[in-house]
Amino acid sequence: MSTETEKLIQEGQAVVMNTYGRLPMALVKGEGSWVWDVEGNKYLDFVSGIAVNSLGHKHPEVVKAIQKQTEEILHTSNLYWIPNQIHLAKLLVENSFADKVFFCNSGAEANEGAIKLARKYAKAHYGNEKYEILSLKNSFHGRTLATLTATGQTKYQAGYEPLPEGFAYAELNNPDDLKQKITDKTAAVIIEPIQGEGGIIPAELDFLQTARKLCDEKGALLIFDEVQTGVGRTGKLFAHEWSSVKPDIMTLAKALGGGVPIGAMLAKDEVASAFKPGDHASTFGGNPLATAAGCAVLKVMLEEGFFEDVQEHAAYFKAELQKLADKYQTGEPVRGIGFLLGWPLAKLGPETVNACREKGLLINFAGGKALRFVPPINVSYEEIDRAVKILDDVFSSLW
Ligand SMILES: *Cc1c(COP(=O)(O)O)cnc(C)c1O
Repeated sequence: MSTETEKLIQEGQAVVMNTYGRLPMALVKGEGSWVWDVEGNKYLDFVSGIAVNSLGHKHPEVVKAIQKQTEEILHTSNLYWIPNQIHLAKLLVENSFADKVFFCNSGAEANEGAIKLARKYAKAHYGNEKYEILSLKNSFHGRTLATLTATGQTKYQAGYEPLPEGFAYAELNNPDDLKQKITDKTAAVIIEPIQGEGGIIPAELDFLQTARKLCDEKGALLIFDEVQTGVGRTGKLFAHEWSSVKPDIMTLAKALGGGVPIGAMLAKDEVASAFKPGDHASTFGGNPLATAAGCAVLKVMLEEGFFEDVQEHAAYFKAELQKLADKYQTGEPVRGIGFLLGWPLAKLGPETVNACREKGLLINFAGGKALRFVPPINVSYEEIDRAVKILDDVFSSLW
């Protein structure tokens, strides 16, 4: 390793809190599906800032919108109306089940808002005993105290006890377990249409349908956490569009700002009206800069034919990955939808990620279960072929 990276790592370790197991590299430039580190090495970026840079780096429309906004005003306040925020809310409402949007700055905050809204709604309509949030085992919903409690994995919760009360857990894709765990106390059920951090595990259609039916029977709200699956990642604007099931609340973040931090919580009017002025807020939420970026991202994705293109490229990539999985007999089939793909590996996950990096391909290993592929959704066939070739080389030497 050369001195510039080493120097950065030393400086970083001295002053940055030690919350991440970081790879020994620093990325400083990007264009499309490519990124460069401080040493000038070039990588194909199939991590995309963990499903954030879905239109690739430096997308001209996103850059233009941000530049234009910096010359006008960066931040005002939700004490006033914000034109870009209204435009982005309109785009989201016109293209989803929802009627109203609350803006914040991250996925955890969006889910925190969803949990608060669900509790307010349940109490207003059914009384004080309806407050429980039912989530799924192996899920991921964020790192605030409430969202890490909703996260159905004890490794994220250890050391933070006492955890907030009123959370329960059911098994993904087990309708009978869901039926047992949902009760009159349940205010909401929160589901990722595809578990992302948990290892790219899709919720099955009949499970989602059962969840919808049970929620309706019990007067509980159905929340879809589309922080990772949403905003084009699966080849539709929202992943739940692949099913016939609509939620009452949906959360977004990651790809929504094209790299600028933003989160959103969307709901039907009936539900959203449980919030009154003063009930929930965020200083930065939906600020002029973040929502300018969000509008640019959605405008690009909503262009005619955009998602058809994404779906064709993603189907090609998945088939190529499956060919490799067959060739090297790695076990379970490649899973996921669109460009949220997981290649399950029972062994050598971290080694594979490292070997790919050395050959110029960035991927990661999600949930200790599967290689995760989340390239920019406008990645080209040539770039896909390049990634597949690198994977082939790596597997032929490692397996
Ligand atoms: C990333 C993620 C979150 C948390 O988002 P942050 O912006 O890191 O707070 C929540 N839910 C899901 C499904 C995620 O993938």
